Amino acid sequence: MNKVFADLPVTIFETMSQLARDHDAINLGQGFPDDPGPEDIRRAAADAVINGYNQYPSMMGIPELRQAVAAHYRHWHGLAADPASEVMVTSGGTEALTSAILATVEPGDEVVVFQPFYDSYLPIIRQAGGVPRLVRLEPPHWRLTEDALRDAFTPRTRVVLFNNPLNPAAVVYARNELELLARFCQEFDAVAICDEVWEHVVFDGREHIPLITVPGMRDRTIKIGSAGKIFSLTGWKVGFVCAAPPLLRVIAKVHQFLTFTTPPNLQAAVAGGLAKPDDYFFEMRRDLARRRDRLTRGLEDIGFPVLPSQGTYFLTVDLAPLGLNETDHVFCRRIVVDHKVAAIPVSAFYEKDAVTSVVRFCFAKKDATLDAALERLSDAV
Ligand code: GLN
Repeated sequence: MNKVFADLPVTIFETMSQLARDHDAINLGQGFPDDPGPEDIRRAAADAVINGYNQYPSMMGIPELRQAVAAHYRHWHGLAADPASEVMVTSGGTEALTSAILATVEPGDEVVVFQPFYDSYLPIIRQAGGVPRLVRLEPPHWRLTEDALRDAFTPRTRVVLFNNPLNPAAVVYARNELELLARFCQEFDAVAICDEVWEHVVFDGREHIPLITVPGMRDRTIKIGSAGKIFSLTGWKVGFVCAAPPLLRVIAKVHQFLTFTTPPNLQAAVAGGLAKPDDYFFEMRRDLARRRDRLTRGLEDIGFPVLPSQGTYFLTVDLAPLGLNETDHVFCRRIVVDHKVAAIPVSAFYEKDAVTSVVRFCFAKKDATLDAALERLSDAV
């Protein structure tokens, strides 16, 4: 058996969702909305199924979607990308990440990764023979610092894997931090793989700045996006990669043997969705921010210290000031069993020197779901 995978635990998302099912709990763990998603996009997919978009599409994605992604990035970020040579469709952000890592990392290459990280990153880096160099980010601000980057980058650094907005910490990185990271990428001649699946889920007037648009980064950045997050249709698994042709060519070689294609009917529906007017996206942000505020207020009323959430479907609470004397894992197990609410322990996103006092809750839920969860947690501390 392959040691990289044989020794892995089951992902924390599946573990907590299973516990939620076992205990009949409200699942504020795994990040998925509990409403059906935009009706017009779902109807467009149904029409595409009925009207014949059902055979293998082009390996790179259907032209309509590749053009829609390029147009969307030009409109929102002023990024000029050629749909034919710089955009590819994947089966979700996770496949895009895997294809990008396998395409860029060779045995012995060092890959700078920020903790907390999404849990698919390290196994794939290791499968490629890469050596992770971990940068530890800390609550409450989870900032990138020059000292931490200086420690992590070496002459063997080939790739940096960066998630912005950052799940689970709910941080949207500002231009000065992106410029700092860009400086290191250029100094050490590294490629940046940017997991930007939360690019549209930013609050309070914040702007998501893709690293690929920072000066000096256009030809050394692989930008990854996901329709699942943009349209709250997380099960669709339609992702996209945008990168300069020499990078995208190799990523496509991995993709062709990993998933080869992605359901064409869903691609067609996503292409239509990306052309929606700006207001659609702003309204989605306001709606999610309202839910964030509802859960924040409720948790604060119970006595939980809530950390700022600038983006994503998540907010985090810091258990440290509560003096509970239990780790995030113990706390999450206790609340799912005793209070019937599931959350995610943030230490699961660290490999070493974990922050063990922070817990993540998903607020992308109906008001009634959030209120019911708050009711159940009312005597949890
Ligand atoms: N991105 C989702 C989250 O952070 C989980 C996806 C998954 O379950 N693999 O909750």
